[in-house]
Amino acid sequence: MKLRFFNTLSRQLQDFQPISDGCAKMYTCGPTVYNFAHIGNFRAYSFEDLLRRTLEYAGLKVTQVMNLTDVDDKTIRDSRAAGLPLRTFTEKYKKAFFDDLKTLNIEPAEVYPAATDHIPEMIRMIEQLFERGIAYQSADRCVYFSIDKFPQYGKLARIDRDNQRSGVRIKNDEYAKDSVADFALWKARDEADGDVWWDSPWGQGRPGWHIECSAMSMKYLGDSFDIHTGGIDNMFPHHEDEIAQSEGVTGKKWVNYWLHCDHLMVDGDKMSKSLGNFYTLRDLISRGYTGREIRWVLIGTHYRKKLNFTFGAVDQARDLLNKVDELVVRLQKAAGTGDAGVSEFVAKCKETFENGIFDDLNISGAVAALYELMKGANRRLDQNLLSAGDARMILDCLKDFDRVFGCFDVDGAAGRCAAAETFPAEVQALAEQRAAARKAKDFAESDRLRDAIKALGYVVEDAPGGVWKLKKI
Ligand code: AMP
Ligand code: ZN
Repeated sequence: MKLRFFNTLSRQLQDFQPISDGCAKMYTCGPTVYNFAHIGNFRAYSFEDLLRRTLEYAGLKVTQVMNLTDVDDKTIRDSRAAGLPLRTFTEKYKKAFFDDLKTLNIEPAEVYPAATDHIPEMIRMIEQLFERGIAYQSADRCVYFSIDKFPQYGKLARIDRDNQRSGVRIKNDEYAKDSVADFALWKARDEADGDVWWDSPWGQGRPGWHIECSAMSMKYLGDSFDIHTGGIDNMFPHHEDEIAQSEGVTGKKWVNYWLHCDHLMVDGDKMSKSLGNFYTLRDLISRGYTGREIRWVLIGTHYRKKLNFTFGAVDQARDLLNKVDELVVRLQKAAGTGDAGVSEFVAKCKETFENGIFDDLNISGAVAALYELMKGANRRLDQNLLSAGDARMILDCLKDFDRVFGCFDVDGAAGRCAAAETFPAEVQALAEQRAAARKAKDFAESDRLRDAIKALGYVVEDAPGGVWKLKKI
């Protein structure tokens, strides 16, 4: 089965061919630890987790590196405002980030290098750029990358060389395409930095943002590796500058596949700290949502499409995941006559799933396979067709899907259902009689029972496959 991905570098879907057979090496731009990450950031990390899990599902051994940006313009600004040493200030947000990853069931990367632990590697890389005549120190004592000396500059973001202004310098870490210029590799110490500085061959100062990802990825993954990911807003200038630095040093192709996810939106705007239109994961958990419900929403839209965040979507995720739990419990109790067609049915669902997820993480295809599995399983259970062994095959398939979805926790489903709402015995009994009447196609009787349930203050909701659920009015 072939994996293929849309490579931002070529703007094309390409078959995935790792550098070393059986292994996938990937680098992921991680958080700037100056605040709690918001769920827009977690859309990027959830997409990367979906990618990682898909590579693993396809049988590849993944080595993933995610950096922690714990020194930059923003971390320095806010640690000073808080009156705390940089390390103490960022420590709190690093810890919060790892807690949030657990809540979202995001698999840990193999390495989480922090920028402040890799200053010597960054200095070494800048020295190599000097040796190759690509870096220079300007009158402001900062060191810059001369984009003129790297003719391929602009190849990822597709920037016209005519619009490039080499010799014009930009010191900020973040800037727009229309101010493309020589960018800072090393920033000379200034007033605003307080006590955050290191010695270097160019005087006291601190690294620019972009150099950390080049230095740390190459330290842990080598001069060339398979995949680099991030949010689409990181493509320029960050990723463009990372390519320039890395290939400027080695002269070799640095990354083969670039994958970028589109934005999480709220009411038509990108969710961002600067617009103030964000929710942290903690905000949503305190409203009573669970990590897996939020995760389902974050992975549920194809990563290259914008995802509009709504609470309605999280409610729908809750409904679906509850139905998966209910199905799991039914399957665990199955003791039917047996159905010789189950293994073929499961194989077909798996094929649909893999055709979807292996094709540039086509999540709709993968979710369609889940619906197919749920519908077929519930129908067979209604007809009492599944033996314990048949049910086990379906449960194993759900577990397999969950290696990628990461939302079902099949073994914990019974506990969640037992903890779920209980209803008065009279209401429960009426609902069961109604289900039996519907099955027997006695709709007059089922309508009568529905009204009787309503009179007691409850509604019964139906889902495909004869599944029903009680709710208090
Ligand atoms: P930052 O901490 O701002 O560097 O962002 C960390 C990651 O989150 C980067 O990969 C960004 O591209 C990504 N990101 C930031 N905002 C959003 C958003 N609204 N939707 C999706 N990804 C985002
Ligand atoms: Zn980066």
